[in-house]
Amino acid sequence: MSFEDHTIKRDRSAALFAEAKQYFPGGVNSPVRAFKSVSGPPLFIKEGHGCRITDEDDNQYIDFCCSWGPLILGHNNDLIRERVIETVKKGTSFGTPNRLGNQLGKLILDNHPYIEKIRFVSSGTEAVMSALRLARGVTGKSKVIKFEGCYHGHVDSLLVKAGSGLVTFGVSTSAGIPESFAKETLVLPLNQPERLEQVLQQHAHETACIIIEPVPANNGLLLQDRSFLQFLREKCDEYNVLLIFDEVISGFRVNFAGAAAHYDIRPDIFTFGKIIGGGMPVGAYAAGAEIMGHIAPDGPVYQAGTLSANPVAMAAGLAALEQLIAPGFYEGMAAKTSRFVSGIEQYCRDKGYTVSFPHIGSIFWVAFTNDRIVSADQIDPASMEQFKVLHHELLQRGVYLGPSGYEVGFVSAAHSEADLEEAAVKMKAALDIVFK
Ligand SMILES: *Cc1c(COP(=O)(O)O)cnc(C)c1O
Repeated sequence: MSFEDHTIKRDRSAALFAEAKQYFPGGVNSPVRAFKSVSGPPLFIKEGHGCRITDEDDNQYIDFCCSWGPLILGHNNDLIRERVIETVKKGTSFGTPNRLGNQLGKLILDNHPYIEKIRFVSSGTEAVMSALRLARGVTGKSKVIKFEGCYHGHVDSLLVKAGSGLVTFGVSTSAGIPESFAKETLVLPLNQPERLEQVLQQHAHETACIIIEPVPANNGLLLQDRSFLQFLREKCDEYNVLLIFDEVISGFRVNFAGAAAHYDIRPDIFTFGKIIGGGMPVGAYAAGAEIMGHIAPDGPVYQAGTLSANPVAMAAGLAALEQLIAPGFYEGMAAKTSRFVSGIEQYCRDKGYTVSFPHIGSIFWVAFTNDRIVSADQIDPASMEQFKVLHHELLQRGVYLGPSGYEVGFVSAAHSEADLEEAAVKMKAALDIVFK
């Protein structure tokens, strides 16, 4: 599909993108934003209100990317905006403790039954990096087990994939990562308990932790059986390895206490990001008091941050999370999302289209298959061509999905039933073209 096929105008976005290429590698500050796997130039967004965003060419879209997950309350939420403005008037950062940090810490710990202490950082990547150091510091062991199809930010030792055959040592997926770092990571397929048991038998004595996205949502939505997560918990106890739930997406999203609460499984360490900052750069890691006691200045595991827990970011997080603890919030989000995707799914089934919409809470994914997908290797790369058409057709109709078929969609509290009905009609029309 060529550029000229576009019926909506993207001239201003195209011009800004051409300019951006002079300043930034690939014209962007985070790779997937470059629209490499969908058609046309990336949209330059200038405004967002509720569930709608407006680009520089004044096209409006119902947004299901929601800044990649943080905006569970939609764009420009009144309470967040007001709290940020009120806070920013007093200064942006002091590099000292501040009361808003206490308030956000208390709100989280009071409402999250699986953790006792938390440390704020400034991104999900930083949270994961710090959590790995903590796990290594606590156990005195160095290796990490991760799963193919889970993304944990751009931490060196986690930008790895499985090697060929039965070799489980990681092979880096990025240049610039020493082989010796990649070798510290063992990579396993999701949902295969036997493989995990084998690797633990061989490597548990040198393994600090197992890290998993309990709701893997960065490579499609690879919903796991609870029994697999429970198996991880039991094996970690048996082999004296720490379990890290990377809840940067699922935390405060599928539930206030995230996937841990959804599945009722307690990992040893959590990582958070995205929603926790209400749209500002915040990450965090958290655990029981004993484990967190290893962090400096209480303990020997060093971790610090110049802008960590700055008042503006804390104000945004606080204003967001206060709205999430309202009774029924998550039930409402899940019900709304389920109705939305089920309607489209029913339509597709009636038409005989091979597409399904796995979902959990307010996360959904468009999977061009009718099979249940639980691991990364089950995704057919050829289906990404169908996604490309869908993405294009949706943009023409005013619906924005993240620009890759491996990305999930997010429904926010600002998507009303009427917005979702409108989006569903457009989705159906776009799918008619995909399957024409
Ligand atoms: C987004 C994400 C990260 C990385 O967070 P950044 O804020 O982008 O550094 C880590 N883990 C998971 C599960 C994520 O979804």
